[in-house]
Amino acid sequence: MSTVFGLIIQGKLPAKKIFENERILAIEDIHPVAPVHILIIPKKEIPNLQSLGPEDAGLLSEVVAVAQQIAEEKGIEEGYRLLTNNGPDAGQTVFHLHFHLIGGRVLGKMA
Ligand code: 5GP
Repeated sequence: MSTVFGLIIQGKLPAKKIFENERILAIEDIHPVAPVHILIIPKKEIPNLQSLGPEDAGLLSEVVAVAQQIAEEKGIEEGYRLLTNNGPDAGQTVFHLHFHLIGGRVLGKMA
């Protein structure tokens, strides 16, 4: 069954799109924790980082390239975080792999 991100990818739920190609969608997070908070979502339905296989290595490189491009467009290339929460203990709530691109303020140390 599709998650909320699967439904957004399928166009069944709205989202503010920042970037899209055949493999990746980037949208604004609905509850931003910083002035820039974008979710970079591989369209392939992979639950989380731990479920990635070697065949997905190219996808990860592309996620990084998309993050770099958006960081430049948003003017935050001097300081941002790109992170994924893997599993409930890490706070993952949507079980469709996604990466948070966070910046636009001084982020400080990781908790
Ligand atoms: P996680 O906790 O799984 O790492 O991150 C899920 C993120 O998705 C959260 O930051 C949450 O605010 C965001 N989110 C949840 N539902 C929606 C939605 O329907 N639209 C958008 N744009 N973001 C969502």
